[in-house]
Amino acid sequence: MRSKLLWFGVYLALVLAPLAVLLLEAEPPGTGFQWDLAIALGFAGLAMMGVQFVLTARFRRATAPFGIDIIYYFHRYLGGVILLTIVLHPVLLLTDSPDLVSWLNPLEAPWHMTAGVLSIVSLVTLLATSALRRQFHLAYEPWRVAHSLLAIAAVGLALAHMEGVQRYVANPWTHALWRAFALSLIASVVFVRIVRPWQLHRRPYRIVNRVAERGDAWTLTVEPIGHRGFEFQPGQFAWLTIGGSPFRMREHPFSFSSGPAPADGRLQFTIKELGDFTRTVGRVSIGTTAYVDGPYGAFTIDRHQAAGAVFVAGGIGVAPIMSMLRALANRGDRRPLLLFYAYRRRERLTFYEEIETLKTRLALTVVYLLEEPDEEWAGERGRITRELLARHLPPDDVHCQYFVCGPEAMTQAVERQLNALGVPMSRVHSELFQLV
Ligand SMILES: Cc1cc2nc3c(=O)[nH]c(=O)nc-3n(C[C@H](O)[C@H](O)[C@H](O)COP(=O)(O)OP(=O)(O)OC[C@H]3O[C@@H](n4cnc5c(N)ncnc54)[C@H](O)[C@@H]3O)c2cc1C
Repeated sequence: MRSKLLWFGVYLALVLAPLAVLLLEAEPPGTGFQWDLAIALGFAGLAMMGVQFVLTARFRRATAPFGIDIIYYFHRYLGGVILLTIVLHPVLLLTDSPDLVSWLNPLEAPWHMTAGVLSIVSLVTLLATSALRRQFHLAYEPWRVAHSLLAIAAVGLALAHMEGVQRYVANPWTHALWRAFALSLIASVVFVRIVRPWQLHRRPYRIVNRVAERGDAWTLTVEPIGHRGFEFQPGQFAWLTIGGSPFRMREHPFSFSSGPAPADGRLQFTIKELGDFTRTVGRVSIGTTAYVDGPYGAFTIDRHQAAGAVFVAGGIGVAPIMSMLRALANRGDRRPLLLFYAYRRRERLTFYEEIETLKTRLALTVVYLLEEPDEEWAGERGRITRELLARHLPPDDVHCQYFVCGPEAMTQAVERQLNALGVPMSRVHSELFQLV
């Protein structure tokens, strides 16, 4: 909790620093409250835009206390706040001084005003293409390239606009602050695009095994080449690049499905065929080079004191849960564990045989739930409901931790149902497979 507050404090300090420095201006900066507010919103909006880069740069120390899905959620949520803040900047200025409207015309306006307008256009395009990506059927990879370029354009043009206006950056402190701000943005882009791929390039892996699993999934085993790999906590994930170069930034996030890495550093990922990339996994040749950027994430039983655990898996959401079950079995853990495992049909239940075996090594109860059961199916059927959970959950005094991973709609519904059953949300941890 303390480290969360610390990082939140760092975020606020970064966003508010430009406003604090603005107060150092020798002359009152504005021509009245509305004008000053407009200027302050412009500065705060620009600072928030810049910090968006840092949020998604996957700095492990900063993301670890929250979990990367929460960081991406925050990043998405802030997009709307930034748009409002930035759009209010010209709206307040124009309603305060309507004669400035001519500056919206690039033929009449000074260059820095046009830079400001283009920055807002880039920001609006960036947010629209992100919010409507699925409705527009934009493929992830081209969207990601466009997203990065639009973000760089929005911030770069806004900095040029500010530099061109000059009036509010004349103070040496303000000037120094914005120089440092621009330099740290460049540094974070260089780190993400060059330094980290270079680090990955120096620590390659190779695919050593590929096994078909139930439910159109494949388990890939990768082994470090010339290094010892890394340790991870069961339930965490990594960004995986198969073939190609890490500089091309074609990586995809996958949970580790193996238990903790053995001494040889081997890792396993279980990948369901879904789209362009995952449909190629079943054809990957043994020996192909891979790059593994990890570990990331806070979805792990190892970070929580628990008298027992309840796992809720939907489809391939079973992968990180399998990692936790395997790790607990290796450790000889005897705490009570309950797994709800929902899938459409019985034959698709990935890891079914191994889960049945794990029941003998762990104090594990499994409730399978099928949406389309065959005639012989005697188990639970339909979707996960509050009644179903209440029927199987241990008594409340057991103080379990809850781990939920599955399709977004299922995960949100389970969180609501657990909450309605009186489970404190601090004990419910979920992993979403859709960051964007
Ligand atoms: C933390 C986390 C852990 C995951 N663990 C697993 C796992 O163990 N097993 C598994 O099968 N799947 C897992 N996924 C989902 C997996 O990353 C996507 O299914 C995969 O990237 C889809 O790629 P595609 O090109 O085949 O499909 P597409 O049809 O191109 O994409 C389907 C959706 O996946 C997401 N996506 C696509 N490419 C990327 C990318 N490069 N980076 C981030 N998101 C992307 C987008 O939301 C997209 O709409 C996990 C996702 C996350 C965020």
